[in-house]
Amino acid sequence: MDQPSHGLTNESYTVACICPMGVEMAAVAAMLDETHPDLPSTRDMNSYTLGRIGAHNVVVAVMPEIGNNNAAMVAMQLLNDFRSIRFGLLVGIGGGIPVEDEFDIRLGDIVVSKPTATFGGVIQFDRGQVRDNGHFERTGTLNKPPAVLMANVEKLRAQHMIKGNKISQNLTEMLEKHPAMDEGQFFYQGAERDVLFEATYNHGGGSSCGSCDRSKVIDRMPRKTTSPRIHYGTIGSSNLVVKDAITRDQLREDFKILCVEMEAAGLMDEFPCLVIRGICDYADSHKNKRWQSYAAAVAAAYAKELLSIIPASEVAKTRTIRKEAGKHICVFNAIATNISPNKYLCLETKATELLDPAIEDDRVELYRRFRASLPNEPISRDETHARQARFASELMTYKFHAQGPWPFWLRDYIKAGHNLNIRDFGGKTPLHHALTTQFERGDKVRGLVEAGADVSMQDFEGQTPVDVAKEQDAGLFIFLMRAWRDRVKHSDG
Ligand SMILES: [Zn+2]
Repeated sequence: MDQPSHGLTNESYTVACICPMGVEMAAVAAMLDETHPDLPSTRDMNSYTLGRIGAHNVVVAVMPEIGNNNAAMVAMQLLNDFRSIRFGLLVGIGGGIPVEDEFDIRLGDIVVSKPTATFGGVIQFDRGQVRDNGHFERTGTLNKPPAVLMANVEKLRAQHMIKGNKISQNLTEMLEKHPAMDEGQFFYQGAERDVLFEATYNHGGGSSCGSCDRSKVIDRMPRKTTSPRIHYGTIGSSNLVVKDAITRDQLREDFKILCVEMEAAGLMDEFPCLVIRGICDYADSHKNKRWQSYAAAVAAAYAKELLSIIPASEVAKTRTIRKEAGKHICVFNAIATNISPNKYLCLETKATELLDPAIEDDRVELYRRFRASLPNEPISRDETHARQARFASELMTYKFHAQGPWPFWLRDYIKAGHNLNIRDFGGKTPLHHALTTQFERGDKVRGLVEAGADVSMQDFEGQTPVDVAKEQDAGLFIFLMRAWRDRVKHSDG
């Protein structure tokens, strides 16, 4: 088949790194111990780089645009393309929120999401509802990363306390291996360019802080080394960029958020992942792009160090995200129809309601569920009503007939107490026949279904009206799938 020389298939990859932007993907790709040839994906929405870090085969995916909704799309697509993925790392840059005396966050430091008693490590602070007292209550607290990840984060943290981290070493190796990255500023930018202004002092304009008042700079102790520090805590996610210090400090007050970013919330519910952010600015009006490449590189360096201590055997023991969830299809469809996927993760029946037959993926899934819902036993050959069924079917095959225009005939037929769901000598119902008629087919089919014709009655060959429509008439196929879905919905509720 289409397997590369490595013998690696899509199933060989167990870890996913999702990167919001190209600069972040470049950093992760440059940290790979080995790069693998491309593999086919089902759609061309996502762009992947494949390779190995430590004992793990890793898929690196970049998003077409930043933001929570895009992150969810990319993740679902990735889980369809790589079905053995066990967990993900969201690796990128973010805005730091220094917390006086507790978290001395500097540019180029790393913030890693850490669940607390209250939050799952990430809080979506732009999602919530206004209560009666006018208080805005955030409802977007998100799932925790998988246990195997959290255990190894703690292990790494302990190692760092004893021996220090390997971030600088990984950075040096990356630049040695890829000297061209010097051009892209993937190196430390200098303490003199790491300036934190007072929250009430706004940026004076321009692409740098050259014209900003240095007397408004907050005085911080110089560090002894330029080696990044790693902070563990809550990460705030939203679809809006935070670029003012007052909002930033409010987030710190309310939730003890250490870092703000724009993707994690879109992932966490469906895609258990650890969020690793290199700090590139202070989420205030002075933010600029100078530190972005370096911040992306430190986050990638942390991801590499973490993956290199996780044994492959531990990952193999973890369930795949698909198995864990078993619901990616529903989620994917929820995204396609712009319904929040969080709302229904994801009872089968409930998901059926939300599938839209006008959307191709949904239609395929609905038809699969429809066929699965049919009885397995063959249809018993009961010919009690066969003559009647043939008569009804014949009448509506024609455009004109002795009984008058078709809708009137149907109305009278129902009024007289006749049943539409009866089989002729071939097991076919009037609806089967209506679907192959030449004249006013749509009207006849709709009329019958609205009058109660059953779309799931099989003929003696196992064909239902839905199957006939699938072959004969795309528009009516959609109509019948919708009719079936709505009937399932009502019988459930
Ligand atoms: Zn400024």
